[in-house]
Amino acid sequence: MRIVLAPNPVLREKSEPISLEEIKKFRSTAKQMAKLMYKNQGCGLAAPQVGIGKRLIVVDVTPPDEDGKVAEQNPTFFINPVITKMWGDKQLEDEGCLSIPGIQVPIERYNNVIIEALDLDGEPFTVEAEGFHARALQHEMDHLDGTTMFEHLNAIDRIEALKEYDIALKSGAKPGDTSIE
Ligand SMILES: [Zn+2]
Repeated sequence: MRIVLAPNPVLREKSEPISLEEIKKFRSTAKQMAKLMYKNQGCGLAAPQVGIGKRLIVVDVTPPDEDGKVAEQNPTFFINPVITKMWGDKQLEDEGCLSIPGIQVPIERYNNVIIEALDLDGEPFTVEAEGFHARALQHEMDHLDGTTMFEHLNAIDRIEALKEYDIALKSGAKPGDTSIE
């Protein structure tokens, strides 16, 4: 399993729901995704980012220690997640993406969200999140609908960001790199 980078077309496709019968089969996929996320110091990863067009994301916004590693891993797996509510003042903050290494892009997100999903046992659960947690969830949800950070930008900013990304890739940016000098 490896992280696919933009502009891989799988990142622009709408993902398919996972049926109840399929959930078991995706448990090990989910665990591998979490491993990959931690390895690349990400706080979220969506199945399309590993080339799988299914509605599955993993998120862990536990802040890393000084060495950049998360000591106590606490991943939450969301199958077929749905945002049922978004509210609060929209916040404009720089965002990174493991599939778009080397750059950060300012994106406006709601401060608060409620997400309903199934866990890896097929049980429904609800998460209410705010701030950075809410941002991470909105970012991963976007991936399930084929939306990357670039699609949030207006035409001019997008051209700039794509140029910057091109330079980052040419300088050898890898997933997890959010800034290249
Ligand atoms: Zn992303």
